[in-house]
Amino acid sequence: MENKIIPYGRQHITEEDIQTVIEALKSDYLTQGPKIAEFESNFAKYVGSKYAVAVTNGTAALHLCAMALDIKEGDKVITTPITFAASANCVRYCGGEVVFCDIDPKTYLLDIDSVRNLLQASPKGTYKGIIPVDFAGRSVNLQDFRALADEYNLWIIEDACHSPGGYFIDEIGNKQLCGNGKWADVSVFSFHPVKHIACGEGGMITTNNEEIYKQLLRLRSHGITKGDDRYNNTLAFANGGNEEAIVYPGWYMEMQTLGFNYRITDFQAALGNSQLNRADEGLERRREIAQTYDVALKTKPYVKGQSGTVDGHAYHLYVLEVADRLGLYNYLREQNIFSQIHYIPCHLMPYYRDLGWNEGDMPHAENYYKYCLSLPMYPTLTEEEQKFVIDTIDSFYKSR
Ligand SMILES: *Cc1c(COP(=O)(O)O)cnc(C)c1O
Repeated sequence: MENKIIPYGRQHITEEDIQTVIEALKSDYLTQGPKIAEFESNFAKYVGSKYAVAVTNGTAALHLCAMALDIKEGDKVITTPITFAASANCVRYCGGEVVFCDIDPKTYLLDIDSVRNLLQASPKGTYKGIIPVDFAGRSVNLQDFRALADEYNLWIIEDACHSPGGYFIDEIGNKQLCGNGKWADVSVFSFHPVKHIACGEGGMITTNNEEIYKQLLRLRSHGITKGDDRYNNTLAFANGGNEEAIVYPGWYMEMQTLGFNYRITDFQAALGNSQLNRADEGLERRREIAQTYDVALKTKPYVKGQSGTVDGHAYHLYVLEVADRLGLYNYLREQNIFSQIHYIPCHLMPYYRDLGWNEGDMPHAENYYKYCLSLPMYPTLTEEEQKFVIDTIDSFYKSR
């Protein structure tokens, strides 16, 4: 068993997944076929949103959201430093300014009180939006963020890449699924192999806003539409000036805005559909694994903090905070256990340092970074493997 590599996360591809992809490859469509619409509709149902738009990856999803919400040169947008860089980068793609705000050291999520303090310190209108991240799979309380955002007229992009199937409990005790469109203007998911649902590469945007939905559809495909949102400025010309009773011929399309090619392929969407069928099963298993870590580790003197057992947590990651993290990381690696760090605080990346960010700016995030380690967490991790991980952690601290 020592020879088998245990990563921090990995995809689960079944024979059924493979057959589904083979079928899609044998069909008439490789891209823009029926599997995409099916995947969008199934995904919207899964998270409880009205609309869903599938795209090439989670980063493209964030970029399109930033465009649809009209981020412009110099617009200030708030996000957390404990996230994958793309959550912040999407603001930069549109020329906006990223303003990092610290995390809550208990939940590891963007701290709403820090965000409120930041907003109160500047005149209204200074900031345009907030990008909270359901980090590790733990849902942000979006009802609270919505109330704050409304006070300052901000939009919300929920980065839910870690949390399909996750939820928070609202004020009256109801489960509110990540990406359900009730509080965030848009929510973003990723189908990279380490995430819950694997498409190879893939992403999804969910929303309840019809206007944003239509804009996203255009932006995903060069800004071109063939739908009922065409406004006909070349057809009369082609018809010899006849402006009356225009029936669009089959070939007629309009490029209305500057978009991209961020389309997913049909066979990736087929894989997504097949994976989505098993999503609840995978989530169940992730929660079991979390429970086992929680119980096994919570009394250990070397544990400073951990993800724990939290209602609605989707457990993309299971985070442990420990002393001598580097020592443990190396020791685990020697035993072929590949733990990982999520994340090096985004504001300390050379790119963001060049924009003026520094050590000391985000004390909670920086302190978290000194101790955090993501333990192996994926549905096919066996009980035996998990026990080996826990025992190996224990033996490291006993040997010191
Ligand atoms: C994975 C991830 C992304 C980007 O998704 P890709 O599909 O890899 O482009 C964005 N935000 C977070 C929090 C992620 O974990």
